[in-house]
Amino acid sequence: MPRRKTKNRTGLQRIEGVPFHDAWIAFVCLKCSELNLINVGTQLLDPQTAFQTASWPCRKCGYKHCRSTDLPFPNWPREFTEHTSVRAERFWLGFFRIATEHPESYWKQCNTCGRILPFHAFSKHSGWGPLQRQMECRSCKGAINAVLNPRRTKQQLHEASVRRRIADMLLEGENRDISPEDLFVRFGGRCFKTKKPLNINDRKSWAIDHILPSKYLYPLTVENAALLSAEANNNKRDRWPSEFYTNNELIELSKITGADLTLLASRSPVVNPNIDVNACVSRFLKVRERSNLPKRLRELKELLEEYSLVGRLSPHNKRMLGFD
Ligand SMILES: [Zn+2]
Ligand SMILES: [Zn+2]
Repeated sequence: MPRRKTKNRTGLQRIEGVPFHDAWIAFVCLKCSELNLINVGTQLLDPQTAFQTASWPCRKCGYKHCRSTDLPFPNWPREFTEHTSVRAERFWLGFFRIATEHPESYWKQCNTCGRILPFHAFSKHSGWGPLQRQMECRSCKGAINAVLNPRRTKQQLHEASVRRRIADMLLEGENRDISPEDLFVRFGGRCFKTKKPLNINDRKSWAIDHILPSKYLYPLTVENAALLSAEANNNKRDRWPSEFYTNNELIELSKITGADLTLLASRSPVVNPNIDVNACVSRFLKVRERSNLPKRLRELKELLEEYSLVGRLSPHNKRMLGFD
């Protein structure tokens, strides 16, 4: 299967040829205040060497930033500006340190908006170039994530977390242990969404996707587990599979796991039709939790009503929960 282009996933075209692992030096011209940027590739400079050997001309006025140049400040006395003076030497030492001392001193180019920006404009990405930062700046990242991850309101997030918590309590004991080794074999060691190879020993880098979400009362089982990178799983969250996976991915997923394709492909979420509601309620009431019982019962009743499960309660449970 051909890999999908990045463009399709994020909706943003990358600028070709941007050396996004490279570090840039940024300095403000002492004479004319122009911001100057120099690409230094993937090797960071040593401040002492830069002080000894560098000669950085300003692109606007040509003034050479170099320890053998006099300082161009008209109001400073000669004994401060003459390059042979100790004061000027110390000035140059500090000047080159500021620009080269730490990875944080450097700038880099965003391959999405093309701007060259300070270190802190990029989020961390281990192992990427000497600065270990991502290839797009945080503003572009914001735009990209907004597409993948539509913003939910605080209220929606709260309701979703209540729902998930209750659903998890109802499912207690039905979830199966998933063997990471078997999961990696089934999915060829790759994130099912991005196809990125994953390292089984780096537990933070991958996650088990609950394909049919627990929110709709599906327990975690072998048929209901997919291997995703942590990032992809964070985008999926508790969305219904057809809201996250493409049609081809749904077909492949059903082949790998043996899950019911009709269910996976359903346009809207379907509450687990096989769930034993009464067993769930018994389990729910057995869970020892310090939170107050009336509130928990109210939340449970709301969920049962919203999922149209009241009709499947035993007469005893119906009465107990006050549905009569
Ligand atoms: Zn200048
Ligand atoms: Zn950008």
